[in-house]
Amino acid sequence: MVYDCIIVGAGAAGLFCGAAFSQKQNGLILEKTRRTGTKLLMSGSGQCNITHDGSIKDFIPCYGKNGGRIRSCLYRYHNVHLREFLKKNGVDTFVRDDGKVFPKSMDAKEVRDMLCRKAAQNGFIIQHDSPVTALAKTDSGWCLSTTRSDYLAKTVILATGGCSYPTTGSDGSIFDVLKRDLEIEIIPPKPALSPVKVQDYPYTSLSGISFANGGVVLLDGDKKLAEHNGGLLLTHRDFSGPAVMNISKHGFTGGCIQLNYLYPVSYEDAFAILKASLEGNREPVEKLLAATFDLPRRFAKAVVQRAGNSPKELAKILTRDTFTITSIGSFNQAMATAGGIALSEVNTKTMELKKHPGLFAIGEVLDIDGMTGGYNLQFAYASACAASDAVCG
Ligand SMILES: Cc1cc2nc3c(=O)[nH]c(=O)nc-3n(C[C@H](O)[C@H](O)[C@H](O)COP(=O)(O)OP(=O)(O)OC[C@H]3O[C@@H](n4cnc5c(N)ncnc54)[C@H](O)[C@@H]3O)c2cc1C
Repeated sequence: MVYDCIIVGAGAAGLFCGAAFSQKQNGLILEKTRRTGTKLLMSGSGQCNITHDGSIKDFIPCYGKNGGRIRSCLYRYHNVHLREFLKKNGVDTFVRDDGKVFPKSMDAKEVRDMLCRKAAQNGFIIQHDSPVTALAKTDSGWCLSTTRSDYLAKTVILATGGCSYPTTGSDGSIFDVLKRDLEIEIIPPKPALSPVKVQDYPYTSLSGISFANGGVVLLDGDKKLAEHNGGLLLTHRDFSGPAVMNISKHGFTGGCIQLNYLYPVSYEDAFAILKASLEGNREPVEKLLAATFDLPRRFAKAVVQRAGNSPKELAKILTRDTFTITSIGSFNQAMATAGGIALSEVNTKTMELKKHPGLFAIGEVLDIDGMTGGYNLQFAYASACAASDAVCG
C-alpha cells in the first residue's frame, strides 16, 4: 500500500504537522522509540513554554544568523496563529511576565495529547519502534526502510529532530542516512543552549543561586563574540540559565566568559558606589554588599572571600567576573542543536527539499536553533504548517 504521507518522527514538529493537515490523509507517523513527543513533554520543565509574546518581527534575531532565512515561514505561521490554533483545540494559553507563553494548565501533556488527537483525526497512525534507516526515491514517491519493514509514500516529511538529549530518540542518526542516500548537505551538528564549564569555578557550594538579569559576554581574547542578558544560574559545577545558554553555541574551550551579576550596572558605576559606601563602613563587607546590590548573602560572602575589601576588586568580580572556558555542555545537556540539514537545500516557504520534490524537512532536523523562550517550539509549529499546507496544495 502507498501512504499519502509519512511523517518521520513523533516529536513536537511531527505531531504539529499531523495535527495541522487541512485534508484527511492516509497517513503514518514512523517513530523510532516507544514513546510519543518525549521532548515536548520535557519542554519548559514539563510546563511547555510553547512560544513567546510580542511581534513576530522580534523573533527573527532570536534564531541567530539563519533567522532571516525563515522569516516568511514565521510571518505566515506566527505566534498569534499558534495560540489561536491551540485555543481552537481546547488548549488555552497565557503570557507570563517575562513574555513566555505557556498552556494555562502548565502541563505539556495537555499539548501533546491534543496534537495526537488532532493528528489521528487527520488520518495519521503512529507506529512506534520504527527507526527509519534508509530512504529511496520510487516511481510513485518514496520508499522508507525501518528495522521492521519497508513503507511506500507519495510524500515524506522528516521531523527527526537534532541531537540534543539523545535518550529521547533524537540522536541525529538520520543525518548519515540523508548524506548517504540523498546526498543532502548537513551542517555539522553541535550543542546549543548548554551550560558552560570554566576553569577554577568558585561557586560549587552556591549551587541554586540565580540572578534574574545577569549579563554574559563571550570573548576571544579582546574580541567580543556574543553577549546576552537574562537569567543566570550557578550550579554545583557550571554556569547555566538562559543568558549563559543563549551564548553557549558560540563558546569554545580556551575562550572566555565574562559575567556581570549586577547587569546593567557597569564596572565604573559599581566601583563608584562601592567606594562611597565602603568609606567609614563598620559592618561586615558582605552584609553591605548584599544590602547595596540586593544580592544573596552567601554569594556576597563568596565574592568578598575572592576580592577582599578593595572596591576595585569587588566591582571587578561583580561586573566583570572572567573565566576561561574548559568545555561547553554536551548534547546530553544541550536543549537544542545548532546545525542539521542546510537551509540552502530547502525551499523555506514550503520546507520541501529543492533537489527532492515530495520530501520535506521540519523542526530541529533543519539548521535552525532558537534562543530559550519558546522560539524552538514556535519554529516546529511554523515549519510543520508550511509543510502540511504545501502537501495539501
Ligand atoms: C529539556 C528540554 C527543554 C526544552 N524546553 C523548551 C521550551 O520550553 N520551549 C521551546 O520552544 N523549546 C524547548 N526545547 C526545545 C524543543 O523541545 C525542541 O526544539 C523540539 O522538541 C524540536 O522538535 P522536533 O520535532 O524537531 O524534534 P524532537 O522533539 O526531538 O522529535 C524528534 C522525534 O523523531 C524521532 N526520530 C529520530 N530519528 C528517527 C528515525 N530515524 N526514525 C524515526 N523517528 C526518529 C525521535 O525519537 C523523536 O521522537 C527544550 C528541549 C529540551 C531538551
